[in-house]
Amino acid sequence: MFKVAVFSSKKYDKAFLEKYNVDTDLEFTFFESKLSRETVDLAQGFDAICMFVNDHADKFVLDHLKDFGIKVIALRCAGFNNIDIDYAARHGFKLCRVPEYSPEAVAEHTVGLMLTLSRKFHKAYNRIREDNFALDGLMGFNLHQKTVGIVGTGNIGLATTKILTGFGCKLICYDPNESEQVKQLGAEYVSLDELFRRSDIISLHCPLLNSTHHLINEDTLQLMKKGAMLINTSRGGLIDSVAIVKALLSRQLGYLGIDVYELESSLFFEDLSGEIIDDDVFVRLASLPNVVITGHQGFFTEEAISTIAKTTVGSLTTLLSNQQLDNEFLLC
Ligand code: NAD
Repeated sequence: MFKVAVFSSKKYDKAFLEKYNVDTDLEFTFFESKLSRETVDLAQGFDAICMFVNDHADKFVLDHLKDFGIKVIALRCAGFNNIDIDYAARHGFKLCRVPEYSPEAVAEHTVGLMLTLSRKFHKAYNRIREDNFALDGLMGFNLHQKTVGIVGTGNIGLATTKILTGFGCKLICYDPNESEQVKQLGAEYVSLDELFRRSDIISLHCPLLNSTHHLINEDTLQLMKKGAMLINTSRGGLIDSVAIVKALLSRQLGYLGIDVYELESSLFFEDLSGEIIDDDVFVRLASLPNVVITGHQGFFTEEAISTIAKTTVGSLTTLLSNQQLDNEFLLC
């Protein structure tokens, strides 16, 4: 049997991974802890590890994993900003991810955030619970005919573009690799600056890389239309959170919908309802009426979790038995 240590595991990870772990040589051990310098010792005695979005595998962690004889690392997510891939490749790790599990899940969540903000669902929900049926303060705006800027037109950007085309939005996009499918939907590729200047709503779907870290900052926020809406379901580090608070307070930014936050690893996926949140920027953002935050749940649909579990079990089986894995799943 191949022993696999699963980090950051929740009840649903266990249920879905075990559901698809049938007739394989894999034996999962589930740890609630995040993978970090402090917890890496838990990986001793295993053949592989399985990690998620807020686990961190830097050089220190990878050195330890190598010393423990770990050969395979499976990311049960699409993003890979939380692992030093070059270092992992140089040290002979086999690294896989789930490149596409349900772009529609994240795209639908993205549009959900847009609609929540444009029609103030979050405020209406609370009012009705208190028998307040007044409409004052609930006036919204149509998405129809608004210009939406999509930054990153890979799987999720494309799925979001398809949905918004149905709403009658005008789609403008920026991506260094232009997609024919996106063009066929009638969307227009423009420069990033032009996208910032023309969009009523901007939605981020590019990966977090050194070159995209704080893509949204004090300068780029100034390029945007006053009162624009910004949505981020990609990775928190794309946005400079301090700059975003300033832009919201000065009314330069009109609406913010985020499913990800740059310091989310100390907050998200945990029940902290009895704790004091020690992050003033997050608390300020959460206090604003024109900000909607969800806790990295864009991926969290039955369909997506099933695909993640099935793909992860398949990739681990292939790599641990020294077979060739399709390139689309391999990071190195
Ligand atoms: P993808 O690889 O299919 O697409 C990413 C696109 O971004 C590519 O077309 C790429 O060319 C483009 N890109 C690269 N650099 C860019 C830049 N500087 N500016 C603009 N575009 C650039 O990835 P995907 O499956 O569409 O996922 C997008 C992101 O969504 C992932 O990186 C991940 O961080 C995030 N994600 C979030 C959730 C969630 O639950 N909220 C779930 C899955 C993925």
